[in-house]
Amino acid sequence: MSNLNILVVEDEEAIREMLLMALSQGDLNVTAVGSAEEALRILADINVDLLVLDWVLPGISGVELARRLKNDSLYKQLPIILLTARGEEADKIRGLEIGADDYMTKPFSPKELIARIKAVMRRTGKLGESGQLTYGDLVLDIGQHRLSIAGKGMDVSPTEFKLMQFFMTNPDKVFSRTHLLDQVWGRSVYIEERTVDVHIRRLRKILAEQGREEMIQTVRGFGYRFSITG
Ligand code: CA
Repeated sequence: MSNLNILVVEDEEAIREMLLMALSQGDLNVTAVGSAEEALRILADINVDLLVLDWVLPGISGVELARRLKNDSLYKQLPIILLTARGEEADKIRGLEIGADDYMTKPFSPKELIARIKAVMRRTGKLGESGQLTYGDLVLDIGQHRLSIAGKGMDVSPTEFKLMQFFMTNPDKVFSRTHLLDQVWGRSVYIEERTVDVHIRRLRKILAEQGREEMIQTVRGFGYRFSITG
């Protein structure tokens, strides 16, 4: 099993550094940032498997970030463990109500947090899942959020991954931009159709690294098709 990517969002530097040290072991890769705004940039960039999120942050609060992510079709499956200094039952209930997967009150032992991380990952199916989609020599590992071409692991953002998952589930068919928007981004999100073109371009670039850019074909006046044959 490959490593799990954990993103820690904590504005207090001492705690952030402690978490970075304590969690960077075994099969966990840890990235730590000090604000929700930075976290959003990281999330758009790398495949994060679990978020450890402080409740009180400057700017967008941890609770607000958790609420936004759980309402976003792209991130609603992302497990979140909320950290807080407050011990009040009402906060705990609020945190779980907005969809956080677990909750820890400071101070806590890093060991306990690691145990909670593993428990959440098991519960949400990120540990021990082996769902794979195969098309030609492309393999998409759903559980691990990894794409490989001819055995080589590729660097894919969450959106490109979802787009790839849709294409590999529905090869050889032509889809309009609107259809792709609905299927990959969800109806609840307002995104312009040209956003589809941007992500198609990025995905083609990834495929081009292994000479497979022609697998995504532009069907003039209609949309796109994913296929081995041109
Ligand atoms: Ca804080």
